[in-house]
Amino acid sequence: MTDTVTATWSAPTPLRAILLGRPGSGKGTQGARLSEMLGIPHLSTGDLLRQEIESGNALGRDLERYVARGRLVPDRLVLEVIQEHLDAIEVRELGFLLDGFPRSVTQLIALERMIAPQRLSCALELLLPEREAGHRLLTRFVCTTCGSSPHMRQGPALVAQNTCMRCGGELRRRLDDDVTSIRQRFTEFERLTKPLVEWLDRRGVLLTVDAARTPDEVTTALLTSIERVAPGVMLPQLS
Ligand code: AMP
Repeated sequence: MTDTVTATWSAPTPLRAILLGRPGSGKGTQGARLSEMLGIPHLSTGDLLRQEIESGNALGRDLERYVARGRLVPDRLVLEVIQEHLDAIEVRELGFLLDGFPRSVTQLIALERMIAPQRLSCALELLLPEREAGHRLLTRFVCTTCGSSPHMRQGPALVAQNTCMRCGGELRRRLDDDVTSIRQRFTEFERLTKPLVEWLDRRGVLLTVDAARTPDEVTTALLTSIERVAPGVMLPQLS
């Protein structure tokens, strides 16, 4: 009699996660770090929209009217920008870390339709009080070359010289990091993104991390959370 052996083999599940949090909570920084550590594409709608604006085309000019004032871009335009990136083979196969999208329940429903039959693994919320987030935004400088935003942490001298400590690139203030736009962005967050966060929480897919810590501590907390909810996802060894 021969034994029948049924071999089961499954590839590691790609992580399909969304990063949430009020402006200034560190979504961009953490998205870039996790993307590098996990080898998963990082899609930031803010970055994609700013690229369109930089290109100076008709769509970019349209987008700038919203972004510069801290207003949310109409869904139709954001969906157009994000769709082609979600369709990329690399994203289909490796998964994604979405940063800045979805920002409302309506956008979440559109996202779930776009990726079906694939499903989201989890939603990661970076929790930071408004006061601290506002302070970070008002002191933020972004590198025009590598995109990192070291705030004043890299030392006032380098900021004064407009030089990024990571790559030596030129530092710049973001066009929407002024007091009026920041207020508007916080208002949009309360109005549309907070209800999304609450909705995800009720669905039991929300993981909240205290973002009022060092970037390293926040990254470790995020990786720990991901490991808990998405077993099978390949994670680096945590120290
Ligand atoms: P962020 O880089 O995520 O802070 O986004 C910068 C700006 O881009 C926002 O203030 C909005 O004007 C626009 N934006 C980014 N993501 C979205 C989105 N999902 N829906 C609408 N507007 C967005």
